[in-house]
Amino acid sequence: MAFTIRSLKIRDQILLVTLPPLFVLLCAVALFFYAYWSATNAERSVIQSEQSVVRGESFLRHATEASMAVWGFLCTHNKDVLAPYDKDVTEGLADLIALTDLEAADPTQLQETIRIRAEFDQMQRQWALPAIEKVRGGGEFDATAFMLDGEARLAVIRSQVVKLRKQDEDRNVNEMVGAEKVIRHMLVVGVSLAVLLAVILVTLTGIVTRMIVVPVLQLIRASEQVGRGDFAPVLPPMVNNEFGVLSRSFSNMTTALHREREEIAALNRFSEAVTQCTSEIEVYDLVLHSLKERFQPRQVVIFKLNAAENFLEAAATLVPLTQDVGAWPVIEEPHNCKAVRTGRSFVVNDVKIEPLCPSKFVLPSEGSYYCGPLIAGGIIIGSVRMEAAKDLWTPERQRLLESYLSGAASALSNLRLLDRMKQQANIDMLTGLYNRRFLEDYARKLFAIARRREQPVGMIMLDLDHFKSFNDLYGHEIGDRMLRHFAKTVTSSMRETNLAARYGGEEFVVILPDTSAKSCVLVAERIRNAVMSMVVPSNTEKPLPQLTVSMGVAAFPTHGQTLEEVIQASDKALYQSKHNGRNRVTVASEEEATTG
Ligand code: GH3
Ligand code: MG
Ligand code: MG
Repeated sequence: MAFTIRSLKIRDQILLVTLPPLFVLLCAVALFFYAYWSATNAERSVIQSEQSVVRGESFLRHATEASMAVWGFLCTHNKDVLAPYDKDVTEGLADLIALTDLEAADPTQLQETIRIRAEFDQMQRQWALPAIEKVRGGGEFDATAFMLDGEARLAVIRSQVVKLRKQDEDRNVNEMVGAEKVIRHMLVVGVSLAVLLAVILVTLTGIVTRMIVVPVLQLIRASEQVGRGDFAPVLPPMVNNEFGVLSRSFSNMTTALHREREEIAALNRFSEAVTQCTSEIEVYDLVLHSLKERFQPRQVVIFKLNAAENFLEAAATLVPLTQDVGAWPVIEEPHNCKAVRTGRSFVVNDVKIEPLCPSKFVLPSEGSYYCGPLIAGGIIIGSVRMEAAKDLWTPERQRLLESYLSGAASALSNLRLLDRMKQQANIDMLTGLYNRRFLEDYARKLFAIARRREQPVGMIMLDLDHFKSFNDLYGHEIGDRMLRHFAKTVTSSMRETNLAARYGGEEFVVILPDTSAKSCVLVAERIRNAVMSMVVPSNTEKPLPQLTVSMGVAAFPTHGQTLEEVIQASDKALYQSKHNGRNRVTVASEEEATTG
């Protein structure tokens, strides 16, 4: 990625924007110190110059006083007049020494000072001391010439001192002008720096806003967007700094949240759909379809636990099972399945390295698998095996899958319960045959279809002969046993497509779709013969007497257009059979026993 300021770490960005104003501030401080130093220098120089002038004048005064003392002595020869000479020379010399120190910094002025001292020394040695000697010696000498010489020498010294003072004053002025210049420059530069600093600060505020505030605002807006359910927020660019990291993790978080939402929505759709399934097959199809969509498995096998007969069978699979797998689809002994045995799921994320489930079932040779029980109301009703890619099973995925399985299990259990309830409402508890209500519903639907297709529907009405006396003789319990055996004998004597029902008491009805009255007679005869050879175990050593059955046969549309008419016709025919001596079959309207 190309380098940009925005890709710098926040600390470096802050450093970068802090450096320019810091640099400008340092320049300002340096300038201030320079100006201060210049002003101090100028002040020191001025003080030195003033001291030099004072010392120069003091020297000149002492030199003049000393010369005056010598002149007075020359004129008066009075020793008292010469008295201040030594003191003035000494103090004049002290002034010159101080002057030498004060002018030490300037070579020209130092040179001038040294020259003044040499001149002063020479004046003492060549003029004052010889003049004093001459007066003391008392000899003849030219006092006027001496005086003129002294005057000339003093004039030279005076002019030198004046020159020196002039130089000091000039230096003073220069220093002052220099200091003034510096202060003026400093003012200009200071104002420029202040303007520069303001410009820099305004610019940097803009940069900082762009670099720090903008991404922060973007992140705030993005989180608000996500909060409103918009999972495609505009995020700060994923550059290589803290904001980039934040942006990336925000994006990952949003993706995860979105995925989770979609998963919950899909699970809700599944839960709703599964409750609307009307058969187990429909539930299996929905489960397989949903699991395929959510987990992209290689194989899913739904096992159904046949609790009564104690075995697991593969009820549905995503991919058809291969022929060469002998163990499929029925797995005897549900305890061979760990999920069924423990009621908990078993997960292998990589079959090549993790210990496998100790089942006898065929396990995948690569990838992962999940095996979990189908539990409804605390009862295990089956299990599900899912084979998928390696390392698919994170705890979240497992939880999600288990939500699907628990929805499927309760739907299956509800369907079974519903089935049982429906059956119980339609089945006669004593014989296990359908009851009269179911028979009438069924027959009505069958008649409607037969009417459309113009097909016949046969009906046999059966009534056990002298059953009241049998009951009275052997008791109600044996009577019930007889009824149960009779029901079994009837169902085993007819085709699967026929339907037998207990019509009431010891009366029964058999409905035969697409069968004429003539063909019904054959079935009725088969039943009659079977009943005659029916053996019902007795409670005593004495065998039970052989029962017989009388039957009436009628058919749609020959003997009636409605169910009621056909029932009535077959009932009449039955009555006819009874009337004609029982143990016989009579076809309606012909009112004629076929056998006797
Ligand atoms: P018929 O040959 O004329 O049909 O004579 P029948 O004795 O069978 O006559 P009826 O139909 O009047 O008698 C029916 C008897 O069936 C009366 C009742 O004792 C007996 N029965 C009805 N329902 C049951 C039942 O659920 N269990 C037992 N044990 N007996 C029943
Ligand atoms: Mg009866
Ligand atoms: Mg009877």
